[in-house]
Amino acid sequence: MERQREDACALAERRGWAVREFVDNDISATSGRLRPGYAALMAAVRAGEVERIVVFHTSRLWRNRRERADGIELLRQACVSVVPVKGPELDMTTAYGRGMAGMIGEFDTMEVEIKSERQRREARQRAERGKPASGRRSFGYTADGMALVEDEAEALRGAYQRLLAGRTLTGIAHDLGGAGFTTTMGGPWRHNAVRLMMGNLRNAGVRTHRGKEVGKGVWPAIVPEETVRAAIALLSEPKRRTNHVGSARRWLGTRLYRCGRTDCDGLMVSTYREKYADGRVRRVYRCPSCGLSRLAEPIDAWVRRLVAERLGRPEAVDLLKEGDDRMDVEDLRSTAMTLRHRRESAVKMWARGVLDDQELETAKREIAAELAEAETKLAEAGRENALVPLLAADDPVGEWRAMEGQVDREQAVIRALTTVRLLPPHPGRRKFDPDTVDVDWNPASA
Ligand SMILES: [Zn+2]
Repeated sequence: MERQREDACALAERRGWAVREFVDNDISATSGRLRPGYAALMAAVRAGEVERIVVFHTSRLWRNRRERADGIELLRQACVSVVPVKGPELDMTTAYGRGMAGMIGEFDTMEVEIKSERQRREARQRAERGKPASGRRSFGYTADGMALVEDEAEALRGAYQRLLAGRTLTGIAHDLGGAGFTTTMGGPWRHNAVRLMMGNLRNAGVRTHRGKEVGKGVWPAIVPEETVRAAIALLSEPKRRTNHVGSARRWLGTRLYRCGRTDCDGLMVSTYREKYADGRVRRVYRCPSCGLSRLAEPIDAWVRRLVAERLGRPEAVDLLKEGDDRMDVEDLRSTAMTLRHRRESAVKMWARGVLDDQELETAKREIAAELAEAETKLAEAGRENALVPLLAADDPVGEWRAMEGQVDREQAVIRALTTVRLLPPHPGRRKFDPDTVDVDWNPASA
């Protein structure tokens, strides 16, 4: 860039022209971004302050067809010629000069477009062969993406475990920094970078291209697919407070308890209410769909007790063992992979004319439904990881009690165990009735 600028200046000097510079550094020739230097140059042209424009190459002046057409017209009106260091001088007052400018420009544009077509094609082919995406090194992997960087991979595994156990993204960024890790750009970890890293299926050895999964990658996985799926599901939950380490406004049941009114199933939110005889402000859970509201404190205490009771049972540790009716994660993983391959081959069959448009649509729809189901189950399987550190402890109940107030972690455990539904209270009853809290233990924990 600097060299090109010097060449252009030298040319102007040799011809004895007074020089005024307009520079747009590092702005890609094809991006749509505003170039302040170009805008100022055109303003100067309009104001009649310019006799000729010296550029290194015309492709540096105009980035696309529209810009070029507008530019040529403007230069014609202002009788300004273009003098490239590389290429013939273009006198915009003549039809010949304008025609040449247009044609040279067309070839510049074509060259740029061919290059980007080739890059897109190569990127797609890499993806289809399951090769790692090119570009910046990914945390946990070597620069070619084909092997693990062990200490980073280990840190990432730990990060997934903590995320699924309820640690916040900011907390994880903090852990990584504390352990001496930086991003692969050398910068400090922040929650957005952690979110991007942990939501990437690359870590499970799944190749994606332009946001779509295309199949199994040829590189080693750092964590199993269900772990990344669970992380993605967790991170895409609405209103997840990503940048808070515990929040005073967030209570145990916020967006966790469901409304138990028939046909409602809304997610309860938290609010305060002060219409009580003693004048005290109470916190309540409220269903945004039907308006059902319940006093929060007795419900939270009851749910915490139920969970403690369940974790205290001798058979609690069975939650971790593979039972007959436990979903087989290996199975799910290969099901998902098979479905993705089937989707790919359906498209190939369509391209060869074996399937018509409608058959392809039907196949894609069916596969998508099955795939969504398998992916949801995988996410659920991964989510049970929240229980692992708890049940592995000598005293699960004590661990659970010690967690009180760390709402993210408590919620992760409750999610792994059960679905809590709040029913309307009995009319006229003021005392809390445990029967109005419907606790539906998940199959694995029932
Ligand atoms: Zn409701």
